[in-house]
Amino acid sequence: MDVRNCRGCGRLYNYIGGSYRNLCPDCVRKLEEKFDIVKDYIEENHSATMNQISEDCDVSVRQLEKWVREERLCFADDSPIGIPCENCGKTIKSGRYCEACKNTLANQLGSMYAINYEEDDEKDKSSRARMRYLDRK
Ligand SMILES: [Zn+2]
Ligand SMILES: [Zn+2]
Repeated sequence: MDVRNCRGCGRLYNYIGGSYRNLCPDCVRKLEEKFDIVKDYIEENHSATMNQISEDCDVSVRQLEKWVREERLCFADDSPIGIPCENCGKTIKSGRYCEACKNTLANQLGSMYAINYEEDDEKDKSSRARMRYLDRK
């Protein structure tokens, strides 16, 4: 059994994992209730800032940002709220990266696979030869 201290209320609880790693089931339930309140709030208050939401819904800005990164909270296009793209710092409404960075990252991933399958590529041959050489050592 894995018993831990809850970050929210300080009580001991049985750790079961999940997305709210440091909270007891009670605090998780309370947080989920907050989430619903916040969601309703931003649907009705498109122009609310992060601080306003935090104050009116009694939720920390850090928690709000976490929900945004997890793409659970999404702000209207006319909302002043934005968080920086983790790659280039451009303001985005939810998630971790802007559209451009998402595409770049997807392409990088794609070309990595392409190199593996392009048998006729000279650079690829030499790198494979080098790998064979390393294997022999
Ligand atoms: Zn707790
Ligand atoms: Zn970006």
